[in-house]
Amino acid sequence: MYYESTRDGSVKITSAEAVARGISRDGGLFVPDSLPRLGLDEIVRLGKLSYPEAAKEVFRLFLTDFTDGELENCVRRAYVGSFDTENVMEIAELRKGEYILELWHGPTCAFKDMALQILPHLLTTSVSKTGVGKKVCVLVATSGDTGKAALEGFKDAPGTEILVFYPENGVSAMQKLQMITQEGKNVGVCAIKGNFDDAQTGVKKIFTDPAVNEKLSENGLMFSSANSINWGRLAPQIVYYVVSYARLVCEGKIKAGEEILITVPTGNFGNILAAYYAKEMGMPVKKLICASNSNNVLTDFLTTGVYDRNRRFYTTISPSMDILVSSNLERLLYHLGGRDSEYISGLFRSLGETGRFEVSEEIKAQLKELFYADFCTDPETKAAIKKTNAEHSYTCDTHTAVAVGVYNKYIASSGDLAPVLIASTASPYKFPEAVLDALGACGGCSDEFEMADKLHEISGMEIPASLSALKTKKPRFTGSVEKSEMLSAVYSLLKIE
Ligand SMILES: *Cc1c(COP(=O)(O)O)cnc(C)c1O
Repeated sequence: MYYESTRDGSVKITSAEAVARGISRDGGLFVPDSLPRLGLDEIVRLGKLSYPEAAKEVFRLFLTDFTDGELENCVRRAYVGSFDTENVMEIAELRKGEYILELWHGPTCAFKDMALQILPHLLTTSVSKTGVGKKVCVLVATSGDTGKAALEGFKDAPGTEILVFYPENGVSAMQKLQMITQEGKNVGVCAIKGNFDDAQTGVKKIFTDPAVNEKLSENGLMFSSANSINWGRLAPQIVYYVVSYARLVCEGKIKAGEEILITVPTGNFGNILAAYYAKEMGMPVKKLICASNSNNVLTDFLTTGVYDRNRRFYTTISPSMDILVSSNLERLLYHLGGRDSEYISGLFRSLGETGRFEVSEEIKAQLKELFYADFCTDPETKAAIKKTNAEHSYTCDTHTAVAVGVYNKYIASSGDLAPVLIASTASPYKFPEAVLDALGACGGCSDEFEMADKLHEISGMEIPASLSALKTKKPRFTGSVEKSEMLSAVYSLLKIE
C-alpha cells in the first residue's frame, strides 16, 4: 500500500514516510491509495483477540512496510499496562441497543490516548526505517486534549522533542493544569493569545515553511505532527470501531452483519473519519452521525455541501470541539471526489482565500447517504447530561453529551431504532465544573479537586488516579505568547537561532 497527497497527484510514498513526515510539502494530507477490505468473519474474529493483538491485525493492513516485529513492539508498548482497563476501551450499555464506547481509559482520560499512546512508537520506528536519522520535533496545536495526550505519549521518548501550543482561554482548568505541570526533559508547553484555529493555522504555517524546514535540517532536526493530520493518528482510531463491532457481536448484543449507527462528537473530523474508514473496510454501518456543538460548521456542511468558516466562533463547555476548520474533512472529500488532487487543491485554495467552498452535486449526494449531522447548544448539552444521569444512572462528559443529544435528535426525526454506538471521548472528571452544573450540583466547591470529589459522590465513578495526582504537582510552564511569536517559541525550545 502506498500513500498519496490530497493536493499533489505525483506524491507516492510508503506508510513509514507518511507517518514520519506528518503532512505533505504541498499542504495536503496523506491518504492510502486504496482501502483494504475485511470480511465479516475476519471482523468478528478480532473480538476474540486482546486489544493489542487486534490492533496489530488492523495495522498490518495499513502499515504494509512495517515488519511484524516492529508492529508487535509498537502495540505492546502502547496498549499493555498504560490504560486503567486491560480491555483498553469499554462498552457501557445504556439500554438494549444503545451503547457507549468509552475511549477514555488511558493516562490523560480522553480518547486521544487511543492514538497518542502509540504514535510516538510508530513515529520513531518510521523515522529509523526511512533512514533520515534526524531528531524529530513534534509540534502540536491543541484545543485541550491532544496536547496533554501527546505530551504523555512523547515525554522522554528518545530522539524526539515536543512543543504544544494551546489557546490561552480555550481549555478547561483541569486540561490546563494537566499541561502546565507536564514532566519530561524533551517537552515544552506554550499558551497563545488566540483560539484553537489560530494555533492550528500557526503550526501548519511553520510546518510548511521551506525556510524553516531548511533551518531545522541544518541542525539535524525534522518536523513531524501529532495532530490528527498525521496518518499515524488515524490508523489507531480505525481499530477501536472495528473491535467494538466485533465485541458487540461476540457478546451477543448484535447479530453478525447487522448494521449499526455510529455517533461521534466531532471537532477536527479525525474520529468520525476513522469510523468512515471502518465502514469502507466492510464494517456494517448504517449511518454516521456527526455531532457538533454551537460551532456547527460541519452540521451546515454535511447538510448543504457548503463549507463556510465565516461565522462567529463560540467558546463552549465542550472545548475540544470548538473548531471552525476541520482538517480531516479534506481526506473524506478526496475519497468521495474520486481522488482528484487538483479538485481538492481548488477547494482548499478557495477556503484559504474566501473562507468558503462548495462541493459538487455528486459529493453532496454521497454525504447525504453517509451522514446525519446536527448540533447541541450548551443548554442542550447540559440537558443531555442530566437526562442520561436520571434515566440510566450514567454520567457522561460534555463532549459525549453532545453526541447523546444529537443521537436523540436523530431518533426524533427518523424513528430509526437501529443499534447505536456512541463514542465517549472524555471522562466526566476532565470537565467536572460543567458536568456538576448540568446535574444542578455546582455550588460550594473551591477547586477542580473538590469538584471531582463531589462528582464522585453523585456518579459513583472512580476518580482517575492521573487527575488526583495533579493536586500536588508544580506548574512548570506559565505565561503566554502572541500568535506571531510561535516560530520564536519553537526555535527557543530547540535552542537554535
Ligand atoms: C479531540 C476531541 C474531540 C473531537 O475529535 P476529532 O477527532 O477532532 O473530531 C471530541 N471530544 C474530545 C473529548 C476530544 O478530546
